[in-house]
Amino acid sequence: MMYEFKVSEMAEEFGVHRNTIRNWINAGTLPATEGPGRKYLMKFDDYQELCEKFGRKPHIRPNSHVDLETVKSLEEKNSELPVIELGRFSQKIYDDPSWGDSCLTCGTCASACPISGVDGLDPRKIVRMAFLSMEEDLIKSDWPWKCTMCGKCENVCPANIEIVQLIRKIRSRRKRELIPGPIQRGVTTCLERGNNLGIPKEDFIALLEGLGQELAEDGCPGFATPIDAHGARILTQVNSKEPFAEPDDMKWWWRIFHAAGESWTISSENWEGVNWGLFSGEDSSMKTVVGRIVDNMRRLNCEVLLLPESGHAYYATRYGLNRWYPDALKEFKVATLFDLLLGYIQGGRIRLDQTRHPQKTVYQDPCNYGRKSLRTFGQGYFEEARRIISSCCSNMVEMEPNREANYCCGAGGGAWAMPFSAERIYYGRMKARQINESEAELVITACHGCRDQLQKSLVQEYDLEVQVKYIWELVADSIILPKVA
Ligand code: SF4
Ligand code: SF4
Repeated sequence: MMYEFKVSEMAEEFGVHRNTIRNWINAGTLPATEGPGRKYLMKFDDYQELCEKFGRKPHIRPNSHVDLETVKSLEEKNSELPVIELGRFSQKIYDDPSWGDSCLTCGTCASACPISGVDGLDPRKIVRMAFLSMEEDLIKSDWPWKCTMCGKCENVCPANIEIVQLIRKIRSRRKRELIPGPIQRGVTTCLERGNNLGIPKEDFIALLEGLGQELAEDGCPGFATPIDAHGARILTQVNSKEPFAEPDDMKWWWRIFHAAGESWTISSENWEGVNWGLFSGEDSSMKTVVGRIVDNMRRLNCEVLLLPESGHAYYATRYGLNRWYPDALKEFKVATLFDLLLGYIQGGRIRLDQTRHPQKTVYQDPCNYGRKSLRTFGQGYFEEARRIISSCCSNMVEMEPNREANYCCGAGGGAWAMPFSAERIYYGRMKARQINESEAELVITACHGCRDQLQKSLVQEYDLEVQVKYIWELVADSIILPKVA
């Protein structure tokens, strides 16, 4: 005969805690197996023996014993349950043991992630699902596309799980036609026409020349845009959104180059600086775009590559160079905008007027230049930005948290282009709170994504009373140009 019991009933009967009964079951002290309806089954003889040990009489409740036929059918049913084979990793998304093998399920990543909980998204869940080979569910899910790949989760992970790499890999497994928003269209257009927006070469050249003439008449006499200048020291790539939608924004850098007397150039072909293959997860297109930049550097015989326009462009290109073109890094240097601007300031090549920006000013650390560069390349840019800003502003304050621990603005990982704007704005609530608490009136950033999210979205959505500027815009606006005779 079998004896059927609930843990709580047994605990009450023997005057012990429920966990004690569970421990006895787990340790085999109480030889019981799981039965129907959260009940357990044990042989009646074993129950009697237990009662004897405790000096009790067996307590027979109505329905507390079941016949062996019922037990047999239960056992057969249990044996038909599919077995989850832990440790058999997916060949498609689980490339590396550091993507989940040592996850402690502690949830620290989920606590750090600003989008955790939205639509069930949770980095810990993603790691566990990948570990358990639930790859089809992950590939179908929109979670990897709502994640901004900011790296905040893996930065706090005690087990050093590479969550961002895992998320990118999941993105890479989506059918290309099912990638949300215009990301894949941008990748394809860039591969076919040299830039994400398909701007024709002749239009690009005409635009650059026209803008150069305007600048020459606006405080930079003699300026002419140096297109395809062989042997220039610096080659600068361009974010296609600028020639397409915000062409005047390019003049800030040009004004700085002019003031510093820099030798620089822009290629008329394959000038795209951003690399959306990083977002789509597609290595082959990412490699092609980086390879074109290497070709430009060689064709124009430049010494320094500058990716001045966004944290993404720097991170993606630097990552691609390290991974696929390590030899090219022996031929030329990659400069960040921080290296360059700080060099100009410290070397006295530009002079800045600190009185033009007296308001309380705060810096938004972009994930790609900060936390992610530190983790991937061993060097993050934190203090350099603060030194540049302090050269232009007399009243600099900090957001909390800042530097490596800063929150993403909410637009990273391609989120600015994704169709999930409600999630992007919700994500940005952390940034809005940080800015409000800093009491700053001017926010400076070094990334296009941060600038657009702040200026074009969060300022309106969260009623922020701040002005937003790029760090190079701040420098250009602070430059003391030599007086024209
Ligand atoms: S923080 Fe790291 S160890 Fe903890 S649950 Fe997340 S991935 Fe796992
Ligand atoms: S990378 Fe950022 S957005 Fe993505 S899961 Fe981690 S903390 Fe969240």
